[in-house]
Amino acid sequence: MHHVVILGGGYGGLRVIQRLLADKDIRSDFKITLVEREAYHSLKTEFYALAAGTVADRHLRISFPEDEKLQLVCDTVTDIDLNEKTISLQAGNSLSYDQLVIGLGCEDKHHGVPGAQEKTLSIQSMRRARKTNQVIQSIGTGGRVAIVGGGLSGVETASELRESRPDMDIRLYDRGETILSMFPEKLHKYVTEWFLENNVTIINRANITEVDWHTLYNHGEPIELDAIIWTAGVQPNKLVRKLTETHGFETDRMGRVVVNHYHQIPGFDDVFMVGDCAASDHAPSAQLAEAQGDQIAVLLRHLWHEEPFPEKMPRMKLKGVLGSLGKKHGFGLMGERKLTGRVPRVLKSGVLWMYKHHSGS
Ligand SMILES: Cc1cc2nc3c(=O)[nH]c(=O)nc-3n(C[C@H](O)[C@H](O)[C@H](O)COP(=O)(O)OP(=O)(O)OC[C@H]3O[C@@H](n4cnc5c(N)ncnc54)[C@H](O)[C@@H]3O)c2cc1C
Repeated sequence: MHHVVILGGGYGGLRVIQRLLADKDIRSDFKITLVEREAYHSLKTEFYALAAGTVADRHLRISFPEDEKLQLVCDTVTDIDLNEKTISLQAGNSLSYDQLVIGLGCEDKHHGVPGAQEKTLSIQSMRRARKTNQVIQSIGTGGRVAIVGGGLSGVETASELRESRPDMDIRLYDRGETILSMFPEKLHKYVTEWFLENNVTIINRANITEVDWHTLYNHGEPIELDAIIWTAGVQPNKLVRKLTETHGFETDRMGRVVVNHYHQIPGFDDVFMVGDCAASDHAPSAQLAEAQGDQIAVLLRHLWHEEPFPEKMPRMKLKGVLGSLGKKHGFGLMGERKLTGRVPRVLKSGVLWMYKHHSGS
């Protein structure tokens, strides 16, 4: 009996499980243990709406599949020992594995800015996005909120908050010349105009030097605020960062572990890395995590059948990026096509509906 342990039931981990359970060609006997600290799969791509208070968290949870081959361990992983092949859990017990898939996702990166870790709100986990919403809802009329980081998640958070709280003074701080600097000019111009029309202040070329309770220091200048939401960068889960330190793994500039083209960690052929923890030519995304998950499931089947891995792995095809500006407008990049307005927003809602539908919600 092959025993694969999957750490993290996010987009990558869940996809491996779904594909293994659906694979009728697997002739070997296997069991899967999923270790996930939440009792459900969380739709992280919608956490900006949870933080802004436009969606209830029950709409962002999906139950894990029920199958006799799958055991769900609802607990927090506290340590991974690759040499001993054991996983330590917060409850005090440990698990051993034949194969391991690490899909523990990412956390905020605070770039060493003093106070940023302790004194800002986050949207990187369901618990923290919910906490962010509680703080936002307790702010009185005309309160002032800053979002630090003008990438996709910062833009989605600022615009959703605008819709949810028309009374608030909302400020988006970004270190670049423009927000969404990784997107083509047409898109960041469209989004900048949307913010202008909707009275969200964009502060470009920002340099956040310190954060205190209710105070943000931009180039050393203090600004009084009711809340500060941090969306200015991510890094792999701390357990993966610890593994990197212990084993000296090579990482990319985001700290993601460089894996081989079979998604294995160097020197540990029985350990696969999926999603935001694994280095890639692509930016971290749910789509990428799912595409990697698809491939890892196929490779596990090869391994269990004692068949060699395919010499070349198929190229992962990603469809593009869609972002929302509240519930009615959006923007997107599909290959070379730049989309703005209602169409990308409708497409984004459609993608979410399909995902929920196919995941059994
Ligand atoms: C606001 C926002 C909007 C986004 N929009 C998009 C988008 O439009 N399109 C897109 O493709 N991507 C988007 N992303 C990125 C996308 O959400 C991530 O890239 C994706 O979630 C990565 O999947 P993953 O499987 O690596 O990790 P995750 O989906 O984050 O899953 C990791 C899992 O591990 C669990 N976990 C973590 N630590 C432990 C532990 N110690 N013990 C047990 N369990 C643990 C977590 O609870 C979680 O369920 C967005 C992200 C954010 C924050």
